[in-house]
Amino acid sequence: MKCKICGRTGQLHILGINLSGGNPRNDVCQACQLKESLKDFKSLEDLEMFEARYLSLEKSTKEIIQAMPEALEAPKGLEGLALTPMSVFKHIQEVLAEIKVRRMELLTDEDSEFRLDYLLKKAIEEEDFEQADKLQRQLDDLKK
Ligand SMILES: [Zn+2]
Repeated sequence: MKCKICGRTGQLHILGINLSGGNPRNDVCQACQLKESLKDFKSLEDLEMFEARYLSLEKSTKEIIQAMPEALEAPKGLEGLALTPMSVFKHIQEVLAEIKVRRMELLTDEDSEFRLDYLLKKAIEEEDFEQADKLQRQLDDLKK
């Protein structure tokens, strides 16, 4: 089956992720589905909460891999089908990498509310109140 977005074929939906609550699409590959789902995150806070879940998943998967290294590899010929601790781990890392991409998108969107919000929080943390004041005014302008 060909992916509707990137056009690649042959990718399986082993770990369909679906963050928005609808039915997962079956016409796009797993990587594209992940990218699409992450677009639903409109704030850094939500994204970071999601990331935290995956970081703890990553940690427990690592523990499983260390506890049973013999279960790491899928039987020959079944690499694309079998769900092993290692394939899950790789998938988690792909998700975490895409989360980083999405965070950059949110942060570099010049006039975005989340970017200004984020910078405002940082400015307050760093006690740069002049900058915080400027950012607050920019945010107020956006909300008008
Ligand atoms: Zn694709």
